[in-house]
Order: sequence, then C-alpha cells, then structure tokens
Amino acid sequence: MGKVVLVTGGSRGIGEATVRLFASYGYDVVINYYSGEDRAINIAREIEGEYGVRTLCLKADVSVEEEVKVMVDKIINKFGKIDVLVNNAGIAIDTDFSVKSVSNFRRIIDINLIGTFLVSKYVSKDMLKHGGAIVNVGSTNGIDSYYTYSMDYDASKAGVHILTKNLAIEFAPNIRVNAVAPGWIMTPMNEELDDDFMKEEKKRIILDRFGEPIEVAKVIYFLASEGASYVNGTVVVVDGGRK
Ligand code: NAP
Repeated sequence: MGKVVLVTGGSRGIGEATVRLFASYGYDVVINYYSGEDRAINIAREIEGEYGVRTLCLKADVSVEEEVKVMVDKIINKFGKIDVLVNNAGIAIDTDFSVKSVSNFRRIIDINLIGTFLVSKYVSKDMLKHGGAIVNVGSTNGIDSYYTYSMDYDASKAGVHILTKNLAIEFAPNIRVNAVAPGWIMTPMNEELDDDFMKEEKKRIILDRFGEPIEVAKVIYFLASEGASYVNGTVVVVDGGRK
C-alpha cells in the first residue's frame, strides 16, 4: 500500500508546492482547503495525471473540531491510514495596533495554533498505531518578531513552535514531530505587500532574494522522510539566512 499525506491548506502557496512534491514521490495526497475548492480540484487532477497517484480534496476549517473529525474519518475510510501530516493552513491579518481586534486575534490563533493542535490530535489516533511524521509550518515571525503589525500572527507561530516540541514528546517514539520556520516566501499571502517594503526586507536576507514555495516544500519533505529519522521536536529555519 502506498503512503498517504494530508496537507492542510493544500490549495495554494506553500501547501500547493508540498502537495505537488509529495505526489512526485508517489504519495497519495489529501488536499485540505477552506475556500479554494476549484484550485484544489485542479491541482488534484493535474497530479493524478502527472504522477498516477490517488487524491482526495476535502473542505474543512481546521479550527472547527467537528469538521476536522469528519475530514480525518473520510481519509481513513478512503485510504485506510495517514502516514504524513503537514499542518500548513494559516492566515495573517496585519494591521496597526490601534485597530487590532479580539475577534481577529482569536481567528488567527484559532486557525494557526488551535488548528495545528486539532488536526494533530485526530490524525494521531490512527498514526500512533503504525507510525508516521508530522511537520508543522511555523514562521521566523514566531522566533524573532520585529514588526508589531503582526503581533497576533507572531504569537500564533511562536505557539506552533512550542506545540511542536510538546507533540514530539507526547507522540514519541511512533510519530516524529518537527516544524519549518519559513522567512519571506513568494505566495499569495504576500502578493499585496508594496515594492518599497519588499526591497527593504530583501536587504536583510543573506541570499538576497525571497524564497519560493518549493524551497519550503523540499524541507518539509525531508523532515517527513526516513532521511530525518533522528530529527525530532525541532524547528528548521528556511529563510535564506538573516543578516
Ligand atoms: P497562502 O497562500 O495564503 O495559503 C494559505 C492556505 O491556508 C490556503 O490553502 C488556505 O485555503 C488555507 N487556509 C486558510 N484558512 C484555513 C482554514 N480555516 N482551514 C483550512 N485551511 C485554511 O499562504 P502561504 O504563504 O502558502 O502560507 C502557508 C503557511 O506558511 C501558513 O501557515 C503561513 O503562516 C506560513 N508561512 C508563510 C510565509 C510566507 O512568507 N508566505 C512565511 C512564514 C510562514 P483556501 O485558499 O482554500 O481558503
């Protein structure tokens, strides 16, 4: 039986690149999405044609426990197991401090942090029986924050990093749990940032360029693979190096 990966937020950006990369290695792929049904279905059709893998597209809000439960049940019904979970779904709502609201702060924590906890909780019920790997998508913002406009997002990602360590302890030795902490990656999440701001940000990057989604996906794949069999409970920074 082939291996099965679930990628949350697999309908675009880093999640889409991760879906395509795992499919290229022969994984059957579950693409979780929230609003991007057409994109998810198109990606699924493409990778089925290109790599001959099986796919399943499932809408679920990762912050809603019942939806997560139903999603995981559907995957087990179709594929019988989940070998790799990539907790990638995430949002940012960047604003001045003066207009930050409790509801937006909660929404960010609910999706980025509670969502990671919930999907891990329900997937682990099956994964603990046969072993597997979880890779969480954190952020360099969760390590070293320097703009207050994203304090809510930064707090959520710091939470994802420490949750990673705790889940690694909780699920050992059957499931390894690690995280990636990407820096600036060119995805739809960043497409509205203005050119001058991005020019200034680029000056802080040793490689002098922003990252591509596939460059994060490759590290996610490595952390989930046998090659990382002794890597556990850690956060790998993928940011081109910071000056
Ligand atoms: P993106 O292009 O905005 O994609 C976000 C993905 O998350 C989409 O597939 C979206 O699904 C999904 N999503 C949003 N809310 C969801 C929910 N409630 N339930 C399920 N899925 C949901 O973002 P990205 O840049 O690829 O980011 C992916 C991850 O990397 C995020 O966790 C982000 O914080 C992290 N990250 C990104 C960067 C960067 O520079 N881009 C840097 C560090 C960390 P739909 O489109 O279907 O709604």
